[in-house]
Amino acid sequence: MSALAQRVILITGASRGIGRAVALACAQAGATVVLLGREEATLNATYDAITAQGGPTPAIITLDLSVAPVELCQQVAEQIQATFGRLDGIVHNAADLGDITPLEMYDPDTYDRVMAINLRAPFVLTQTLLPLLKASPDASVIFTGSSVGRQARAFWGAYALSKFGVEGLTQLFAEELKNTSDVRVNCVNPGATRTSMRASAYPGENPESVKTPESIAHHYVHLLSDAARGTTGQSLDLTAA
Ligand code: NAP
Repeated sequence: MSALAQRVILITGASRGIGRAVALACAQAGATVVLLGREEATLNATYDAITAQGGPTPAIITLDLSVAPVELCQQVAEQIQATFGRLDGIVHNAADLGDITPLEMYDPDTYDRVMAINLRAPFVLTQTLLPLLKASPDASVIFTGSSVGRQARAFWGAYALSKFGVEGLTQLFAEELKNTSDVRVNCVNPGATRTSMRASAYPGENPESVKTPESIAHHYVHLLSDAARGTTGQSLDLTAA
């Protein structure tokens, strides 16, 4: 399987959960993956798993997306340019759940942190990496949505608002890039998936009752591959996957 051979793909939040599974699947499909997250130690575990399965040697970039000023995002672009000379895709996967509480009581500082990680960082990273993406013959950007960012659900606070924003970010970038570049931009709502975020949001749920991150990773690989050329501005819903 080499759907992503020669491609360089940046994945945020690659230390665990869906990001880790997507990173492993992309490497399995031949991509060189750039694992971005806030702690080198946790990213190293994904790095080791990829090299153990014989995938192309990944790279690690540590960045706390709650404080990701433009200069640091610019450095990410420079590092990728210097190391690989190309970038063919981004999976904006990292996110913070924030608090599950009524807006009436929502802590504004938590609101700011959640919006910074879930909405501002994907915007700034995409903006700074666009020159590299535009130089690729077939670039793909994937944002990550949520069911609560499609239809409001009480108490989901800043997380839900950030995910509504992500849907808009997807549509705007897709509209602005579709006639002037080969960069496609889509959004994936993974739906209920067995991760630590899901366990935090639904502590009483049996984890075995929801699908694994590994079972949905191929959808991301498809969107990153040549097979999805021409697909842009779409919001893919994996709730029933
Ligand atoms: P997860 O297991 O909690 O993983 C979240 C990832 O984001 C981790 O790698 C974490 O890194 C990273 N991250 C968090 N804050 C960060 C920061 N400040 N800077 C850099 N990285 C940061 O979550 P998940 O369930 O796999 O979720 C992945 C995506 O799917 C998210 O966008 C989520 O909103 C979305 N989603 C998930 C579900 C679900 O049921 N799981 C449903 C709908 C949507 P650390 O290891 O350093 O904490």
